[in-house]
Amino acid sequence: MIDLIEDTPIHKLSLTINDNNFYIKRDDLIPVCLGGNKVRKAILMFQEIEKLNSDYIVTYGGSSSNHCRVIANMAASKKLKCLIISPVEQKIYSNNKLISRMLDAEIVYCNLSEVSKTIDDTLEKLKFKGHRPFFIEGGGHNLFGTEAYVLAYEEIKRYESRSKVSFDYIFHTSGTGTTQAGLVCGNIISNDNKKIIGISNARKNPYGGRVVLESANSYLKSRGYPDIVIDKIDFIDDYVLEGYGTMNSEIVSLIKDILISDGIPLDPVYTGKSFWGMQKYIIENGINNKDILFVHTGGTPLFYDYLEG
Ligand SMILES: *Cc1c(COP(=O)(O)O)cnc(C)c1O
Repeated sequence: MIDLIEDTPIHKLSLTINDNNFYIKRDDLIPVCLGGNKVRKAILMFQEIEKLNSDYIVTYGGSSSNHCRVIANMAASKKLKCLIISPVEQKIYSNNKLISRMLDAEIVYCNLSEVSKTIDDTLEKLKFKGHRPFFIEGGGHNLFGTEAYVLAYEEIKRYESRSKVSFDYIFHTSGTGTTQAGLVCGNIISNDNKKIIGISNARKNPYGGRVVLESANSYLKSRGYPDIVIDKIDFIDDYVLEGYGTMNSEIVSLIKDILISDGIPLDPVYTGKSFWGMQKYIIENGINNKDILFVHTGGTPLFYDYLEG
């Protein structure tokens, strides 16, 4: 059953920049649903769904969304219906969409401007028909999503005490922000002083950072901790290029280099882009002689999309 996972592996990379040591946490290797941060988040949400005895899962996301693929998979495994609301977009090749279809998720398309109305109408209709729908925000952006990365932070702490390595920095791709919010909260709850650096793959500040801050504060509140301020959130928007899905030749060569040097697939939309951003950030900020962890947040189907061109 898709309920329990062990700590994901952390290992050292062959990369060297400025005498820093680089490690990677392989959330892409979470052993179910093709892995990634959306699985971590979804596992907690489906525990809640089971408690509430919901029978219909409704969520939102684009065709290449890892989130939608994972939710479709988890719903199917629990024998629950799954409906995905998706914005109309240019036809692009997407393994995630193919997998969601294979899992019999119903996909409802609407214009971007009508998303929230479509969500409301869909939930209304399902309730009218006697269903007990459960709505999951796009990207798994809710308290469970944040909690998932508070727990991931605890895994990182366990690795540190086993290995005697202490990370100065944790880098990762930041999108809707709960991965970052969870890591930031974990850092605060553990009374640590690590730098958590979210490299945005699309959103710009001030919006991107503010959303992370809001997620962090609502989680901290739920656990009885005081609010934090925006200075505590390093949401870096310098490497988003022209926005979601855009890449450059440096990212393309980096993906090949990391596949060769360490045998690890990155993708241009999420992890490859932020790994590239991390390298530039380290050089631009003169970071040296540190222990640096990169969280591989998954997205393996996007690596194959990229190969397909
Ligand atoms: C969704 C996603 C992210 C972003 O995570 P957020 O918690 O939304 O910030 C990063 N990497 C991959 C591969 C993702 O699918």
